[in-house]
Amino acid sequence: MGRVDKGLQPFRGATLVAHVLQRLSPQVASVAVNANRNLPQYQAAAGATAVVMPDRIGGFEGPLAGLQTGLQYCPTELLLTAPCDSPFLPADLAERLYAALQAEDADLAVAVTMEVDEHQGGEPYRQMHPVFSLLKASLLPQLDAYMATGARRMEGWFKSLRVAEVMFDDTDAFRNINTLEELQRHERVQATAPLAAASPAATTPAGRADPDALPVAEAQRLIHERIVPIDSTEKLALRSALDRVLAEDIISPINVPAYDNSAMDGYALRGADLPGEGVANVTLKVIGIAYAGRPFTQTPSAGECVRIMTGASIPTGCDSVLPQELATAIGESSVTIAYGAIRSGANRRFAGEDLKAGGVALARGKIMRPAELGLVASLGIAEVTVRSRLRVAFFSTGDELRSLGDCLDDGCVYDSNRYTLFGMLTRLGCEVIDMGIVRDDPVALEAALREACNNADAIITSGGVSEGAADYTRDIMSAIGNVAFWKLAMRPGRPLAFGQVRSGAGSAWLFGLPGNPVAVMVSFYMFARPALLRMMGAEAPQLVLQARTTEAIRKRPGRTEYQRGILSANAVGQAQVRLTGAQGSGILSSMTEANCIVVLHDAQSSVAAGDMVDVLPFDGLA
Ligand code: AMP
Ligand code: MG
Repeated sequence: MGRVDKGLQPFRGATLVAHVLQRLSPQVASVAVNANRNLPQYQAAAGATAVVMPDRIGGFEGPLAGLQTGLQYCPTELLLTAPCDSPFLPADLAERLYAALQAEDADLAVAVTMEVDEHQGGEPYRQMHPVFSLLKASLLPQLDAYMATGARRMEGWFKSLRVAEVMFDDTDAFRNINTLEELQRHERVQATAPLAAASPAATTPAGRADPDALPVAEAQRLIHERIVPIDSTEKLALRSALDRVLAEDIISPINVPAYDNSAMDGYALRGADLPGEGVANVTLKVIGIAYAGRPFTQTPSAGECVRIMTGASIPTGCDSVLPQELATAIGESSVTIAYGAIRSGANRRFAGEDLKAGGVALARGKIMRPAELGLVASLGIAEVTVRSRLRVAFFSTGDELRSLGDCLDDGCVYDSNRYTLFGMLTRLGCEVIDMGIVRDDPVALEAALREACNNADAIITSGGVSEGAADYTRDIMSAIGNVAFWKLAMRPGRPLAFGQVRSGAGSAWLFGLPGNPVAVMVSFYMFARPALLRMMGAEAPQLVLQARTTEAIRKRPGRTEYQRGILSANAVGQAQVRLTGAQGSGILSSMTEANCIVVLHDAQSSVAAGDMVDVLPFDGLA
């Protein structure tokens, strides 16, 4: 169809490729588009989450080159291929090819239909559709070797593989659209037969992301929407307010600085006395000294100046300060200034240039760090109103857990989650209520939750929320409140319970975190921490930096992955990051080695060494 790519042809209100992707997406973990021209248009048609990539080898070498590119990229164990111009591909293509691949222990499964050859007297024959195939990603070296011989035919390569052929009845499903007339014919059909909605995934071939899993951003949004800041506040002496959240705006009662003053040690003078154009220098008479805290009260006349110290009030009539290193003093009584040494108005700090009287010096929601304490002190304010500390109760669940000091019985582990949670909550400025270990027992769990409701604003539990965990966790959490159990599209930390629980007059927000030690920390940082900050009324956006990864990182699109990283500066001071090694969700030592979390976002796929990635640094100046 001329010079325009077929995949980009308009079709039923979208493009052909968009229709192909609509059919394909529910069947697979992630999609990627191989195109060698018009890449931005393909990206637009495929959507921001799709990967669009040209052949790795140049020269438009045909479908096998595209397959090679797909295999090199493929983040999953299996690769499903379909052409961009076949919008009717079967909704069960992946499912059926996968079943045959497994059953026949094949390398590759390919679609086949029975066609009738009009020219051969209507004889039926088997038609293979090599571009509709499911193959193992591990075949890449074999394909590379085959292509290195110069061969480019798909069927030729298939001969060296174990191929499972899968017969499909619907021959139309594999039709591609080749001519404008065909396109127009299908366009016309639209009025009577709209494209069927793609059916949801019926099977789960290896490597597919879970279609039921909730994206991280969606979970964060749902939590953010429900949480509101607590009301109670208290008035504290300034020093006691360190790390607390300001509950009211601080209005400046004065100008800071309160008066115009000198930014340098030197000579305060009238700008009008500075040497004009063509005048080499002027000499001014020094009539006195202005010290910080001891103003000079006379008003100098024309041709006069005042020796002045940094921070001293600028005498009336003066508007500029000549730094002493630019002055040539002639004894104590006069000073010579060269043409162009300073501009009129130089080195003068204006009254109110830091803070204006009546203006908002600090907005509510600010966390009181050392700078804020200093600023409030500079206004002469000795007490501030802050939000009451959040009371956060936490406990660990699991029969296998032992507390420090207990004997570590066979098959048991020491409870580490209560220590990481203690640390994270304390750092956040919460009042922590450590409720110990709760056995895997419905009565004990219910009692613990009820008690926590009456003592705390929020409850954090660890363990017992995964699918394998005892069902009573769900039953009890739901019975005493309104709790959602989510399966999140993230790693580590898939399960999460969130909601509100009630007992008598008390209620609290519940965060049921997974049990694995790293999953606890990551889900705390990603979900509980922002929610607790919101409850505290704090304005504390998380700093996200970009750093260059020094190594390739494998990643599957369709879920957010948090990896432990070590952020450092390269030889020229730019941020670089490497992973700490083993990333299992139980490996807490990797968390202790790390100084940041590398975030690989939902739509992102594997990254190559040298790519930029987002990182969340653990520490910063405060
Ligand atoms: P669960 O989510 O309860 O199935 O626990 C998942 C894994 O995390 C299991 O291996 C638990 O032993 C472990 N785990 C759960 N809670 C803790 C804890 N408080 N400290 C250390 N490991 C834990
Ligand atoms: Mg457990």
